Amino acid sequence: MLDMLFHKVAIPHNDEKMDVGVQNGRITYLSKAGEQVPQAKQTIKADGRVLLPGLVEPHIHLDKAYLLDQMKEDATTLDEAIQLTGDLKKGFTKEDIKQRSIKVLEKCISYGVTHLRCHVEVDPIVELKGLEVLLELKEQYRERIDIQLVTFPQEGIFQQKGTAELMEESLIIGADVVGGIPYNDPNPIGHLDFVFQLAHKYNKPLDFHVDFSDDPQQLAIKDIINRTLTYGFQGRVSVGHLTSLGSVPYNLAQQIAADIAKANIHVMSLPATDLFLNGRGDKERMRRGVTPVKLLLEEGVNVIVGTNNIQNPFTPFGTGDPLDVALLLAHVAQMGTYRDSETLIDMTTVHAARALGIPSHTIALNHQADLVLFDTTNPRNVLLERPQRLGVWKGGVQVDRDRTVIQV
Ligand SMILES: [Zn+2]
Repeated sequence: MLDMLFHKVAIPHNDEKMDVGVQNGRITYLSKAGEQVPQAKQTIKADGRVLLPGLVEPHIHLDKAYLLDQMKEDATTLDEAIQLTGDLKKGFTKEDIKQRSIKVLEKCISYGVTHLRCHVEVDPIVELKGLEVLLELKEQYRERIDIQLVTFPQEGIFQQKGTAELMEESLIIGADVVGGIPYNDPNPIGHLDFVFQLAHKYNKPLDFHVDFSDDPQQLAIKDIINRTLTYGFQGRVSVGHLTSLGSVPYNLAQQIAADIAKANIHVMSLPATDLFLNGRGDKERMRRGVTPVKLLLEEGVNVIVGTNNIQNPFTPFGTGDPLDVALLLAHVAQMGTYRDSETLIDMTTVHAARALGIPSHTIALNHQADLVLFDTTNPRNVLLERPQRLGVWKGGVQVDRDRTVIQV
């Protein structure tokens, strides 16, 4: 007998209503819903509602979430946001980081997020405090959400003495991914060489904040492509923002997009922050300041979308629901067709999983039962309405604590 059966659900890229059965944490039954309903200890009569693989949040900052109440002034540029957050960071305590991170994690889980990649600041100001807290939370939340931690040198590596050593130490104590931010270092090439060597030494993937501007001259992506090929890191490098590319002449942008696809680099659009901070120097014909999503998709790049910040100097908005930023991207990248809605939902699930190296994150036999059930029978409405989540399961166990009874 199955542990659990979702009877008559709509699943992605399938026109039939399906029965999805779970046993020992895995999907062990998948069949067109018919008269014969298999036996299960728990059956959820979904009546055609949408079941997706768990949502994947690929780029978020838990350690600097929810800072609005601590801010004495507002930030209107990237430099101001970095400065203001750097000042606030001096007052961060482990307890403060922990409570703000937990607030985000609980919200993410309730929205259906089963996997999340978090950038954790590592520098002489905060040292390894944030990472130590997040390593504890990663363990504490292990059965409810998978957390990947990026060691992130927000303040630069060479302009903050001691950061290089702290980054290496962070990998030794458990960081999963090497981060980089070449635009915030006086020596961006040295910065790239350092992080690639570090990733190579510890055999970890790389995840960059890169080309976060509307300046077409800022194109560290070209150096990242070269190094990705040199180090044989295809498929293991992600880049967040990449907004300068949106200000580059079309033919050159197209060539760079094709090279990104060839190097199998994943691009994470972070539209909330990008829209908030870019294009501010434009008095007319104000640019949107986001990466050219459609062009990248046309060239075959794995493009996904992330929340980035929640209510802090970089972005005074954000809820933690990946579908909120997916809908924002739909507006700003003019992605309004039915096919676009499928692409955007894939970005928040299977495509993000690919970027994060999460295997088998689809609704298929033998795959882990990380699932979220939506209160709608129309797949497009998952994006348009962002309907209530009726339940979230991790390895077949319901993990959203507020909703112990499924009301369908
Ligand atoms: Zn970020």
